[in-house]
Amino acid sequence: CGIIGIVGNAPVADRLVDGLKRMEYRGYDSSGVCTIVDGQFVRRRAEGKLANLLEVLSEQPATGTVGIAHTRWATHGAPTTSNAHPHATEEVALVHNGIIENYKALREELAGENRKYESETDTEVVAHLISSGIEKGLDPREAVGNVLPKLRGAFSLAIAFRSHPDLLVGARLGSPLVVGYGDGEMYLGSDALALAPLTQRIAYLEEGDWVVITRDGAEVFNSRNEPVAREIQSSGASA
Ligand code: GLU
Repeated sequence: CGIIGIVGNAPVADRLVDGLKRMEYRGYDSSGVCTIVDGQFVRRRAEGKLANLLEVLSEQPATGTVGIAHTRWATHGAPTTSNAHPHATEEVALVHNGIIENYKALREELAGENRKYESETDTEVVAHLISSGIEKGLDPREAVGNVLPKLRGAFSLAIAFRSHPDLLVGARLGSPLVVGYGDGEMYLGSDALALAPLTQRIAYLEEGDWVVITRDGAEVFNSRNEPVAREIQSSGASA
């Protein structure tokens, strides 16, 4: 239901949760964060209120300067910790707003790969599809560019890569996603409001767009995987 991602210069966990708080008004049933620390994903999730996630984080902190976070409004699978986002494989972690209508067919497509699913969500198969490409040697751009055309339904996504810890990929179709421009940091958010304390410089992705963010900026592609320019605007949202 709410998405935020940061490629930062300082620890991100607190800022990620703060962004989730700013989207609480949308409603949610569970939440989670994933950062990258020493080339490994550190994932923390909790049922219920963000206070529960904060409690988990106080006992088991998630350090790291790159991360993604999510508040979930369950559509497929009960509002449990194991169904909470981020969903992850060894190589790929992601958060998703919306519905992947063809998730069963997509699981079929991977049937030969003996994949282990940990949730009942429509989301998790997307992590496996992208991961499958990465495991075969594709880079994040190729892996995401191959998978997005297969997804039916509505989605915004923020995706992290264990072996590419300096970037995040975002994508949107039928669900909003914005890119935030900071000072040597870059952000993704499903809502400009979530990014308001971080930056007012925002680019709105258009339908079918996807984006690679690094600390240096953003590269946006359209649904035909062609590079496109999206204007940076002032969000006018106040912190
Ligand atoms: N369909 C996904 C799920 O049920 C995402 C729901 C959402 O937008 O939060 O996990």
